[in-house]
Amino acid sequence: MRYPESDESFRCVTSLTPTVCDLCGVRRPAQCGDEPIAAVMEAAKEQLNGDLIEKVLIFAPDAVGIHLWEKFPEHLAAVEAIAPLRIPIRVVMPSVTPVCFASMFSGALPEVHGIREYAKPVLTCETLFNVFPEADWKTAIVAVNGCSMDTIFRKRRGMTYISTPKDTDTLAFSEYLLRQPQYDFVLSYAYDYDHAGHAGGPFSADAITAFKTNLDTFQKLAALTDEVWADRNRLIVFAPDHGQHDTDNGRGGHGQDIPEDMLVYHFYAIRPARR
Ligand SMILES: [Zn+2]
Repeated sequence: MRYPESDESFRCVTSLTPTVCDLCGVRRPAQCGDEPIAAVMEAAKEQLNGDLIEKVLIFAPDAVGIHLWEKFPEHLAAVEAIAPLRIPIRVVMPSVTPVCFASMFSGALPEVHGIREYAKPVLTCETLFNVFPEADWKTAIVAVNGCSMDTIFRKRRGMTYISTPKDTDTLAFSEYLLRQPQYDFVLSYAYDYDHAGHAGGPFSADAITAFKTNLDTFQKLAALTDEVWADRNRLIVFAPDHGQHDTDNGRGGHGQDIPEDMLVYHFYAIRPARR
């Protein structure tokens, strides 16, 4: 299998936070140390005539790394049909979920945000989930109970947290929130691919089924935003935390500084309001 060279075309996973903030006209979190992704900012400028994004959907599927796209180019094409701005991303070390999501949603490296191992404390630095509610964006995280996404961003004023038993419920609650006009920013997390990959390897039948379910979920959520947010300028992002690799014992793992674990794609779509 060929992986793309991890060259200067790759952005750090921290690039998501300043990009989303600048697109929406919301201040960046205090500890954010990265700059927006130029290709996304350029596309927004062109498509929105200088206006701001008004609604945001982020779909965050755990462990969906570049290894999957290399193997299934037809699925890559399907995601790009929804979100055509594909940004090569290098995550941070150690490449585990709480460390990577903390960087993704604060714009800060691990030595700044403080989670440097597989641990799930409530983050003390600022994140998107501070600055968006502060700017009166009604913001929600929907994720399975007890996972990193459900735990490390807690205790933010004005946030809605929905903790679910499984991914199918996460989809149902995400759809419910998107249909509530007061919600402006919905983060929907998916756990099953990572879980199935750990159990039987990143390309096991169960893992691939979960991967395909992720794609189906993204397609459903994106289509719903076109329905309920048709009159708003909106942003759709597909943003996994890290990848996964095969280990000797037939299971999947991650946490190392290798391409399978470190390289992912983030996909962005800018959709202007219907005029
Ligand atoms: Zn994992």
